[in-house]
Amino acid sequence: MRIVHIAAEMAPFAKVGGLGDVVGGLAKEMAKEHEVEVILPRYSFLKFQTFSMKYQNFQCYEKGTLHENIALQIIYDNINLSFIEPHNEISYFNRSNIYGYSDDNPRFIYFSRAALEYLLKKNNSIDILHIHDWHTSLTAVLYKDLFQNLGLKIKKIVLNIHNIEYQGICAKWDLDRIGLMSKKYLSSTLSQQKAFPTNKINLLKCGITFSDAVIAVSPTYAKEITTKQYGYGLERILKENKDKLYGILNGIDNNIWNPQIDPNIPYHYSSNSSAEKIIEQKQKNKDHLYEMARLNPSHKPLICNIGRLVPQKGPALIEQAIFTTIKNRGQFILLGSSMIRKIKKQFSNLEKNHHLRGEVSFNFTYDEVLSHLIYAASDFIIVPSLFEPCGLTQMLALRYGTIPIVRKTGGLSDTVFDIDDKSFSQEKINGFTFERFDKDAMDKTLHRALSYWYNEKQKIFRLIENGVKTNHSLEKTAKEYLQLYKQLINS
Ligand code: ADP
Repeated sequence: MRIVHIAAEMAPFAKVGGLGDVVGGLAKEMAKEHEVEVILPRYSFLKFQTFSMKYQNFQCYEKGTLHENIALQIIYDNINLSFIEPHNEISYFNRSNIYGYSDDNPRFIYFSRAALEYLLKKNNSIDILHIHDWHTSLTAVLYKDLFQNLGLKIKKIVLNIHNIEYQGICAKWDLDRIGLMSKKYLSSTLSQQKAFPTNKINLLKCGITFSDAVIAVSPTYAKEITTKQYGYGLERILKENKDKLYGILNGIDNNIWNPQIDPNIPYHYSSNSSAEKIIEQKQKNKDHLYEMARLNPSHKPLICNIGRLVPQKGPALIEQAIFTTIKNRGQFILLGSSMIRKIKKQFSNLEKNHHLRGEVSFNFTYDEVLSHLIYAASDFIIVPSLFEPCGLTQMLALRYGTIPIVRKTGGLSDTVFDIDDKSFSQEKINGFTFERFDKDAMDKTLHRALSYWYNEKQKIFRLIENGVKTNHSLEKTAKEYLQLYKQLINS
């Protein structure tokens, strides 16, 4: 099959969260047996010194003019990677971050059209075009209403929803400027943003209505987004399109995330190690971490949280978890970055609390290397999300023998099975879960986890051993996608 992904992120080049991991991981797995190309913006922070590069020029329409673009092409892990650099008067990708600009809509709308212009110029027929989130959703519309007529050949278009909260609500003009007649899409069954004001276009909705299949990143999330609580206004259109809605659980790259050989951690262990051995190695990794993270050396259980500090991740519950941990003879390490001033302030105020000094480590940065060491040193990870499309941190934690304590939602529900839930077998249980998104529910569960830690070690051993044996590999995920691709092509 010839598969093309168009995305805003791809690890290890450009990553903010799980989207980058999954695009990178899926492309790599699929490229083992298929011809795979990934098209990304050429962000100015990307460096390519070690790659041999090729360039291709092409033009792209915007605001009545054809603009020059350069596609920089490299081969990485058997994937044909193309980075598009537009040369219009505004530098769309010559910025220090991937997102967070007032012109994010025009930036990614232009990129969506430019990616198709580039594919048209290359003139290869494509079996599957795989687009991701709102950033590249418009390519489905552009293909069906424009580029198909220009001669671009794509058999099926698949849209991945990694997070429905972000939808790309734009003005009509944003579509007109790249050559689409926005009027045509202002209908509630196509792409109109339902919420007031009503003359706005919803880019993710464009992707949902114009793609041949819509895939949420976990089976539970696929169901949840058809409800008012989780659909963020798109529940109705998803229900109307339920015949093409699927849920495929994300996975992790077991080669990069392997505690047996991970170069970022000093003390290793494997999925065959006993829980006692894993705890022993974790303690040595902790000893390594204590100084770096300004924590008092101890034998207390270490609880971590790694992630973007945004409302979705439950910052108030994370704060509560810090206090509950300390009260229950544990230590806490937080690794999180946030673009939201209020949340940043909440945690930096907490950092000033001298009662927490030496018992809680705050790290407000994005640090991939440190994250490996934290997964390898921690005993528990807490993920109290309001919603979680899939969640990778709990899967990484399981692989590193770190017991997850999570709210039962989305992919967390599909991957964490509570020790006290009698419906799960002894082979399946691997963590602690709670239902309600409130401090009390979280507190009780964290308390329960810590009391198991101090009083029932054999049960903790079982959770660790079940966790490290779980296989959430991207290889498995990629196989499911490929199977669906085949089914779509043959339908
Ligand atoms: P989301 O996609 O909502 O950000 P996921 O759990 O799906 O959340 O994926 C988060 C990914 O980003 C994981 O690989 C996690 O380890 C990584 N990550 C998140 N925040 C940080 C950080 N501050 N430093 C290092 N890695 C991080």
